[in-house]
Formats: sequence, C-alpha cells, structure tokens
Amino acid sequence: MNNEFLSDWGKAFCKTVSSVFFIDTDGIVIARAPDEYRFGDSVSSEPFFDEVLKKGSYSGITTVDGRDSFLSCSPIRKYDDLVVGFVAVSQTITPFLLESLLPVGHMTLTFQGRRGFSERLRANSPSGRYRSIIVDDGLFDLYFLSDESERELIKLQRNIIITFAIVTISTMIFLIFFLRRRFEPYSKLVQGLVDYSDKRIDLDGLLDVTSGAASNGVEEIRHIAEALTDMIKVLKNRVDDIQSYSGQLEYLANCDSLTGLWNRRKMDQVLMTETENSRVNGTPLSVIMLDVDYFKEVNDTYGHEMGDAVLNSISILMKSCLRKCDSAGRWGGEEFLAVLPGVDSQRAWEYADKMRSTMENHTFRDGMKITSSFGVTLYRPGEPINEFVARADDALYDAKRKGRDRVEAR
Ligand code: GH3
Ligand code: MG
Ligand code: MG
Repeated sequence: MNNEFLSDWGKAFCKTVSSVFFIDTDGIVIARAPDEYRFGDSVSSEPFFDEVLKKGSYSGITTVDGRDSFLSCSPIRKYDDLVVGFVAVSQTITPFLLESLLPVGHMTLTFQGRRGFSERLRANSPSGRYRSIIVDDGLFDLYFLSDESERELIKLQRNIIITFAIVTISTMIFLIFFLRRRFEPYSKLVQGLVDYSDKRIDLDGLLDVTSGAASNGVEEIRHIAEALTDMIKVLKNRVDDIQSYSGQLEYLANCDSLTGLWNRRKMDQVLMTETENSRVNGTPLSVIMLDVDYFKEVNDTYGHEMGDAVLNSISILMKSCLRKCDSAGRWGGEEFLAVLPGVDSQRAWEYADKMRSTMENHTFRDGMKITSSFGVTLYRPGEPINEFVARADDALYDAKRKGRDRVEAR
C-alpha cells in the first residue's frame, strides 16, 4: 500500500477535520494526514481500537496526540467482507468547536471519554454555556444551553439563593426570639436578686419575683424559683425572729422589769433628747420626781413581795395621769420620774397634784392607803441635766420636809 498516496488522499479531508489515519489490522498506522511522515506507530493499545475490533466501529471521545478529540473509526473491507484495515477521522475538541454547536439550542450528547475531560472543557470554555455531568467513569452527559435556558438556570439559582437566605434569616430571628423568651424568666430572677442586693427591694419584693417565676412553664426555671422561694421564706422567718429578738432585747435593755416603765438608763436618754429639743425649739420642759411615803413600813409590815406589788400599782396610777407623749420611768428603789415636754411649771404642778390625789384616793391591796410626795421643776435652757434633775429632787425633799403627800416646785 502506498502511504504517500493515502496521506495525500487524507489531506483532502483535513480542511474540515483535524486528522485522518489509515490503520492496518494489527493496529499499525500506515498513513496519517496531514503528517505524511508520521506512520508506523501502533494504536493497538488504545481503547477505541479495542472497541473497533469488538464491535466493528467506534465513534466517541478519545485522546489523539494528547488532545481530547471526537474520533470515528470504521473498517475498510475488500470484496465487501474482508477487513483489510481501518480509517479513523478525528476532530480535536476545542471550546470554539463546542461554541459553534450552541446555536443548535438545548441538546444532550453522551460521550465516552476520559476522566477529567469534563473539567478540562469547563476550564477552557470561553462562555461556560454548557454543562457536563459525569454519568460513569469516562461517560459524560454534555448539556448545551441556549441563552434562554441559561437565563432560566441563573434565575433558578438566584431563587434558590434568595429562598436559602430567607429561610436562614427567619430561622435566626425565630431562634433569637425563642432564646429571649426562654431566658427572660432567668434575667427577671437575676434582676430580682440584684435589686435585693442593691436594696432597691426588700425580702417581700424578692419573694414576689421568685414566686412569679415559680409559676413559669419551663421546668428548670420553676425548680430554681421554687428553691429560691423556699430559701427566702426561711430567711424571712429568721429575719422576723431576729427583729423580734432585737425588739425584746431593746425592751429588756430599756425597761424596768418590775413595773414595765422605762429604766434609769432609758430615762437618761429621754432627758438628753427632750432637753435638746426644748433648747432648740424654745419649748418648755418639766419633770416630776415622785417618792413613795414611808415605803419601808410597807415592806416591813406586809413583806417585800407586797412592796413590789405596791410599786407596780403606783407605776400604773402614775401613767394614767400622763399623756402619751410623756415619759415615765423608775428612777431608783421607790422613786419615779416623769418627763413632760411642752409643759411649764404650773401645769407640771397640776399634773403632779393629779397623781398625788389619785394615789391618795387609791386603795391598795389589803385595804392599804399609800401616799407619795412630788417635786416639780422647769428646765432652764442650757443647764446640765444633772442640775435639772437635782432641782426636782430638792423640790421633792421640800415636800417630804413639809409633811409628805404634797407637791413642791422649784
Ligand atoms: P420616806 O417617806 O422618807 O421616803 O420614807 P421611806 O421609808 O419611803 O424611805 P426609805 O428610804 O427609808 O426606804 C425606802 C425603802 O424602799 C427601802 C427599801 O427596802 C425599799 N425598796 C427599795 N426598792 C425596793 C423594791 O424594789 N422592792 C421593795 N419591796 N422595796 C424596795
Ligand atoms: Mg426614797
Ligand atoms: Mg420613800
């Protein structure tokens, strides 16, 4: 066979295709157009040649000289039957070749090719107006898209992105709303504790906060709130106990245990407060000093217990003659002191005489008649308290000296 002739003959087709091969039955290239000097190489190991031998012909994508190409190979038959060789026509696949197919519109082609083929096509495509999908190893579906299809695809992509964005944003908004609702009771509880520690609310206020949260639908919040409520109730009871104890302690510290009147310590405080008020406000302030007459005889005759009972009765009678704003206290054994704010010496004398007559007219236990003597005096602004009280004591001494059961003023 004249390969020069075959090569020249093949060149006649090379205006429309990339190359034409003439192959013998062993797979040896006997002529190649347009490379008239390249022949004698073997394609027997090429997959397309295998397929030609098995099926009689091949049409598909394969590699020719390292380039992806459409290749069509058919046998040459002598006497219509005897295969004497093969002719193969190949066209290198270029992006421009594919682009030239695009005006055809939407079409699907299935090719047999090599791994990486579709990626290479995509990378080399000038406009990317076709898509390829690998169906199987070496099998490709190529979709050529018209402009309209491309636009629809882009529209679809945009819609998918918008839908995704809407779904994402809605989910986030829902999550934020949900978390805020879920954590709101927590923050209310914490705010209650902060308010309590900052003294903006008291234990009762805190109890309102925790009791409110204890009815919450979220189980864990309800448990925390219930535990806090119980703790606060216990704490509140303790605080109430302490307040009541401190009230009792104050009472014990300030009261005379026998008569229930203020004790001497408390009366010293009252005197300090009232003399200061009188000095600052310019209002009168009087005191009445009371001493039971012949009290020693009561003890001696009726016993100490009876004496105590008499002292108690005298304290009641004394208080009954005073106003609420006055202070009455036990000054010593059977001596009492009354402090009368806003009362001048004349009115103080009258108060003292009312006490005196009340006691004189009172019948004590076992028909006992007991009298008392009184010393009255008015505070002189600025004078020391001991001088003020000493003057009342002096007036009381006057009353004793003048026969008892009487009121004397100084
Ligand atoms: P005068 O009229 O001069 O005041 O005579 P008096 O007997 O009341 O005075 P005196 O100072 O001699 O006696 C006071 C008595 O008061 C002496 C004391 O035993 C008694 N006494 C003082 N404190 C108490 C007390 O708490 N209970 C009792 N039962 N007696 C008391
Ligand atoms: Mg006395
Ligand atoms: Mg006395």
